[in-house]
Amino acid sequence: AETATTLHALIQAGADEATALSSPGGVPLTFGTLRALTESTIASLNAQGIGRGDRVAIVLDNGPEMAAAFIAIAAGTTSAPLNPAYKADEFEFYLTDLNAKLLVAAEGSQSPAVAVAEKLGVPVVRLTPTPEQGAGSFTLAFSASAATPASQGGPAHPDDIGLVLHTSGTTSRPKIVPLKQSNVCASARNIRTTLAFTAEDRGLNIMPLFHIHGLIAGILAPLSAGGQVCCTPGFNALKFFGWMSEVRPTWYTAVPTMHQAILGRAARNKEVIAANPLRFIRSSSSSMPPQVMKEIEEVFGAPLLEAYGMTEAAHQMASNPLPPRPHYAGSVGLAAGPEIAIVDHDGEPLPAGETGEIVIRGDNVMTGYENNEKANAEAFTKQGWFRTGDQGTLTPEGYLSITGRLKEIINRGGEKISPREVDEILMDHPAVSQCITFAMPHDKLGEDVVAAIVLREGHDALSEKELRGFASERLAPFKVPAKIIFLEEIPKGATGKLQRIGLAQKLGLA
Ligand code: ATP
Ligand code: MG
Repeated sequence: AETATTLHALIQAGADEATALSSPGGVPLTFGTLRALTESTIASLNAQGIGRGDRVAIVLDNGPEMAAAFIAIAAGTTSAPLNPAYKADEFEFYLTDLNAKLLVAAEGSQSPAVAVAEKLGVPVVRLTPTPEQGAGSFTLAFSASAATPASQGGPAHPDDIGLVLHTSGTTSRPKIVPLKQSNVCASARNIRTTLAFTAEDRGLNIMPLFHIHGLIAGILAPLSAGGQVCCTPGFNALKFFGWMSEVRPTWYTAVPTMHQAILGRAARNKEVIAANPLRFIRSSSSSMPPQVMKEIEEVFGAPLLEAYGMTEAAHQMASNPLPPRPHYAGSVGLAAGPEIAIVDHDGEPLPAGETGEIVIRGDNVMTGYENNEKANAEAFTKQGWFRTGDQGTLTPEGYLSITGRLKEIINRGGEKISPREVDEILMDHPAVSQCITFAMPHDKLGEDVVAAIVLREGHDALSEKELRGFASERLAPFKVPAKIIFLEEIPKGATGKLQRIGLAQKLGLA
């Protein structure tokens, strides 16, 4: 696996009898069985005329079947996992956009994806779990072989597109990201190296498997070291500690909102935590509030390593390193695979300490978006670096801090305000549990600053005036939110991310 550049090669890492996948209460699936399942899946797809480069959409609930189906399908075709929560219109958009040749759905699944595929003339094959062979094991119910088998059969090659995903759509309509087998494997290798995975590691996957974070960090990176992963049906804070005591994981990865929900249950589960020391805990996909990081480290007695990822980079770009190297709150760590630089508007490099756009270059980075010339024209600098659209700064030691997203910068009458900076200040108030700062249209200024707040339990007496006073003592007057609104919950996008853009409209402020 040291040099794997295809998924087929990546899953050769584990010993035949070693566990690759498991599920709470299930029979472990060995690497040997996973490899046999992959060979038989490629053969049956090829017999249907589906081979290398053909798009296979996968709509399955989170769990070991989704993990195994993704690996087996991606090893011989181009896999396109879709969020099972999409509505019919979204499935129609994605299945058409992707040019899907086949849809894989669970036996008995009532997903609207099935009716949409039938309407579009995309064949549907049902997946039947065979858990007695091991968690995630399955058969595909093809009725008969096609007249012409795939001309491009067998395991995919390194330059074939192995995975097609959409970006989260935080800043615009989701963009299609085609990732080569080699991009996916490079990212898995980078994460394996950062986190020093071995065959002894046991992951507990709570991340969705239609998103790059779960697929690469949750599943492929540990498997590429011959380690095992227990696939849960998806995140559930009430079940988390039960899974922990059954599975005895050595680590887990999640997004900040999940870490917060886990913390909310931690006081009741001190014994489980004490009995299951973790090697580390990982956080990625959006910024980790320093207070949450501190509490997680105290409660679990393990380092919390924040990492920076994006779909276009097959997930990881930077990560805080394992001890004894230092890790810091508010930093996403060191370049962890690709090269990272900070550039100005013209793509010229800036020195350490200066703020500019974060650009990356490496073998995990996609070559370009699909069917999106406009986005591609803007996505790369003249020097060939990929523009992340994120703004940040590097320390002389190479630690990266993200200061915001270029598209989210609030322009208040010409004064540029980073909404993250305002979030961080308000989060320092002891009554504030969550905060999101965003732009609201303003007649004269163009945009003005608003913050939406979720208060901690038992702190609902805090007034807008009091919180603005707190902000005024810590921020220049133009950055202090003109308006602060209190919410029970902050609306999120499909992958659980807070979305600043369009929030004013959603909340009736525009
Ligand atoms: P779209 O590109 O469609 O607007 P998106 O950028 O949210 O959506 P993803 O590829 O899922 O889609 O997310 C990547 C982005 O998530 C990064 O560009 C960055 O803005 C943010 N991100 C990831 N990790 C972190 C982190 N640790 N801290 C802050 N932001 C992060
Ligand atoms: Mg993006």
